[in-house]
Amino acid sequence: TIELLRADLAEQASRDTLTGLHNRRHLVERFASMIAAAERADEPIAVALFDVDGFKSINDDYGHQTGDAVLVALAQLMGERAPVGSLVARWGGEEFFIALPGADAAAGLAFADDLRRRCELNVIVFKGRMIRCTLSGGVAAYPASGTSMEDLFHAVDVSMYEAKNAGRNLVRLHEPTRTIPVVVTL
Ligand code: GH3
Ligand code: MG
Ligand code: MG
Repeated sequence: TIELLRADLAEQASRDTLTGLHNRRHLVERFASMIAAAERADEPIAVALFDVDGFKSINDDYGHQTGDAVLVALAQLMGERAPVGSLVARWGGEEFFIALPGADAAAGLAFADDLRRRCELNVIVFKGRMIRCTLSGGVAAYPASGTSMEDLFHAVDVSMYEAKNAGRNLVRLHEPTRTIPVVVTL
């Protein structure tokens, strides 16, 4: 019984209370072992980070409760779309992280862009209102974009902001081999 209680508590502690998705702490723990397994099996892992576009205005226009309902609906959509063996977590606020073991950058990009498109087409009904929202996403892959958790988190973060800056409702793939020319004026 104590073992069951302990397992139950551990499960609860690994979840985000609002959406029921895994929380960031759990993600960090699981992702470390995912990388280790991928290294042993010589397989890639695609990772995606999504941020809801203009989420503040959803809160401002319709209230925080509606904002919460949108997050719950998005979490449900992501949970449904994510393949078996993948890891979906609430990264924080209105940001979500998905890890797809076995998927390379191209497969990750296809998955993420499909999710972005589904979100765009989705209508969330809450308290008689129809709410629509879009996502901006960044995609990267182990090992092409990095072999450490830090490097991969950084890569998706950079790519997600590129999607934001390019106009939102977009997914951007991290470019691992890109070399940025530096012009030094002497
Ligand atoms: P952008 O397109 O640049 O992402 O704009 P944005 O409005 O989404 O970005 P910003 O970071 O300004 O807004 C995020 C908002 O998300 C601010 C914060 O109050 C809200 N938020 C964070 N967590 C929650 C939550 O759990 N519930 C609700 N309702 N709002 C939340
Ligand atoms: Mg954000
Ligand atoms: Mg946002």
